[in-house]
Amino acid sequence: MAEYGKPVPAITPEMRPFFAAAKRHQLVVQRCCGCGTHRFPARELCSNCWSREAEWVAVSGTGEIFSFNVMHQVYHPGFAAEVPYAVVAVKLKEGAKMTSSLVGVKPHDIRIGMPVRVVFEDLTDEVTLPKFAPA
Ligand SMILES: [Zn+2]
Repeated sequence: MAEYGKPVPAITPEMRPFFAAAKRHQLVVQRCCGCGTHRFPARELCSNCWSREAEWVAVSGTGEIFSFNVMHQVYHPGFAAEVPYAVVAVKLKEGAKMTSSLVGVKPHDIRIGMPVRVVFEDLTDEVTLPKFAPA
């Protein structure tokens, strides 16, 4: 695989199930065993019921744009050719929010509430990133 010129996320022990699923092109988030709330990224306590018990479950991969930022500065040389580009917060149908990239949409065409679906970009042999595209 060609060398990837952008920062690659570190796979922490807490997020290992997420990246293992992404590599299979499957989107998973944690679900609280106490109250069923979906959450992302991984955390120890449910912010709804304070349960410490959670499991990783597959989700639909569909949702909507909850918020977004348009980046005009080059903060890393790997992104120099892409400015301006958007960083989006997607609210999944199941309720968890995920920060990601939106592909196939110019930044000025992004709207809050726009329906999106997950797509997967294989960055390296180890890391695949879920991104989003218009649904
Ligand atoms: Zn809970």
